[in-house]
Amino acid sequence: MITAGRRNSKPIAESEIGAFASTFKPIATMSMSKSKTDEWVKIDLHIHTLDDPKDAVDFSAHQLLERARALGFRVLAITLHDALFDRKEVYADAAAMGILLIPAAEMRLEGADVIVLNVTSEEVAQLRNFDDLRRLRAQRGSSIFTIAPHPFYVLGGSIGARLFSEIDCFDAIELCHFHIGLFNPNWRAKRVARRFGLPLIATSDAHRLHAFGQHYTSIPMPRALTIENVFAAFRNGPLCLTSPACSLGDLLNAVYFVFLKHPFRVRRKIAASMRSKARAAPYW
Ligand SMILES: [Zn+2]
Repeated sequence: MITAGRRNSKPIAESEIGAFASTFKPIATMSMSKSKTDEWVKIDLHIHTLDDPKDAVDFSAHQLLERARALGFRVLAITLHDALFDRKEVYADAAAMGILLIPAAEMRLEGADVIVLNVTSEEVAQLRNFDDLRRLRAQRGSSIFTIAPHPFYVLGGSIGARLFSEIDCFDAIELCHFHIGLFNPNWRAKRVARRFGLPLIATSDAHRLHAFGQHYTSIPMPRALTIENVFAAFRNGPLCLTSPACSLGDLLNAVYFVFLKHPFRVRRKIAASMRSKARAAPYW
């Protein structure tokens, strides 16, 4: 549960809002006074927490909620790898904080990551390939929303050029948070989005708490903040994407995290899980 003391998190500083606002397009010239920021809903639909069965993440869902509230986010999706985030108490706490938490997962289908939003654990368990996803989309219609995450980044489960043959499986293309100068594979994502008339969605793909909050998508405040209205806003626009380029420090930090720290953490997590299984094994 969220304690009363932690509910009074310090709000984001005005100077910070200004820094983010400068990345908004096409409303970059719009003054981001408090009244204006209140009219737009900040959304991040690609986040990992320490519940993740595959990645080694060091912040909890509640820490995420606290930071999200401090930064003024109203819609989130925790996208664990190949598993639905289904902790009911977290959904209840999010609702109490005025945050809409959408049930979601980041599924690896035939080697490619896909973010599926507003799904059940039963639906997720039946997703093994793109044809399964097609069937689910046909059944669920506009009540489900899918995103191709980091499609043209070479590491991990990016879909790459296969995106073209599976494009009917997607409602949106992710604008990946990780870009600096000439290194920006998002330019291909932008071209695909334009060609197929799909929206681009900026997300954080946060694996560390400080990485959450700078990369997100905003929609005009709908009449009611429901999953249905959020999906409709994504499909119909307008959207504002906030995705500033990372600094050189961020880049070095990310390289250190991805290639050294995170693999070490994953190995330690696997070793700990094997030790606990060995302890639980019966004596013969
Ligand atoms: Zn991810």
